[in-house]
Amino acid sequence: MDITLQDIKAARDRIQGIAVQTPLKPAYSLTERTGRNIWLKMETMQPTGAFKLRGAANAIMQLSPEQKQAGVLTMSTGNHGKAIAYVAKKLGIRAVICISAQVPEVKIQGMKKLGVEVRVAGKDQDEADIEARSMAQSEGLFFISAFDSAGVIAGQGTVALEVLEQEPSIDTMIIPLSGGGLMAGMAIAAKNIKPGIRLVGVSMEQGAAMHLSIQAGQLVTVDEQPSLADALTGGIPADNQFSFPLCQQYVDRSFLVSEASIAKAMAYALRWERIVLEGGAATSIACLEEYLDEIPGQNIALICTGDNVAVPKLLDIYHQHYAEKDTRS
Ligand SMILES: *Cc1c(COP(=O)(O)O)cnc(C)c1O
Repeated sequence: MDITLQDIKAARDRIQGIAVQTPLKPAYSLTERTGRNIWLKMETMQPTGAFKLRGAANAIMQLSPEQKQAGVLTMSTGNHGKAIAYVAKKLGIRAVICISAQVPEVKIQGMKKLGVEVRVAGKDQDEADIEARSMAQSEGLFFISAFDSAGVIAGQGTVALEVLEQEPSIDTMIIPLSGGGLMAGMAIAAKNIKPGIRLVGVSMEQGAAMHLSIQAGQLVTVDEQPSLADALTGGIPADNQFSFPLCQQYVDRSFLVSEASIAKAMAYALRWERIVLEGGAATSIACLEEYLDEIPGQNIALICTGDNVAVPKLLDIYHQHYAEKDTRS
């Protein structure tokens, strides 16, 4: 089964009223700094603070009445789980969210506040994923993968539809890359609408499963390591159907960024662009900083994928980079 531009357009109509159309903000400071025209796609402004709401809404709204009646189960590093929880609550559907023991407390609290059942299923995401699937089977709940479901991918693709409508001159998109659902969906939309567009993936240095799999030409397993980009960690299950082949086909360049440059980008975004980015989202700015000479295009959209970072943690990082007193009011 192929995922098409039509599916993404249908997703866009379907998710209206749950996910919002986010602004594409001209990034004044980054534009000045880089000599390229930089825009920020502000997915941080989704009600749950991340683009994952698009895919979750699209996947859940396509379920049959029987499936909706039974409920859904998912495994998530946080943002997907939070999105599933939000949509399920809005539509009155039962949702169980499985997480690994490594998920930060701020994200767990975010999900619990939405009134869903959160279960710690394994020590890392690969283990949690296996346990989650078997729980879904035995309890008759519909399993929704964070990145390898056709409905989720089509939902994430709506980000690219919006970007190209908001600014048709965009010739490069820098997209944080983990399981590849966002990249896959955006690629189907963007490359069909504008075949010459360049798609750049960015991941953290340690444990970048999709980056390494693309390089190897086959799925590789990684050791999950703690990272500021916690939304990008975790492996890709061996039964991958959609996201890996689509990323293999469409990703033009894929880069890895260091923890230090992710931290710097989070502080920079707050200081100069006045936006809150979690580590996974700040990788797009880090990529621009580390690899500017290798990044094609003059009109570049950075996908600011999420803002779910604990405020004290962000402020610590901020103070590590900007010790001077900020005198702007
Ligand atoms: C999920 C997520 C990503 C990566 O999306 P994939 O579809 O897994 O590649 C990037 N940034 C944030 C904030 C996320 O939550």
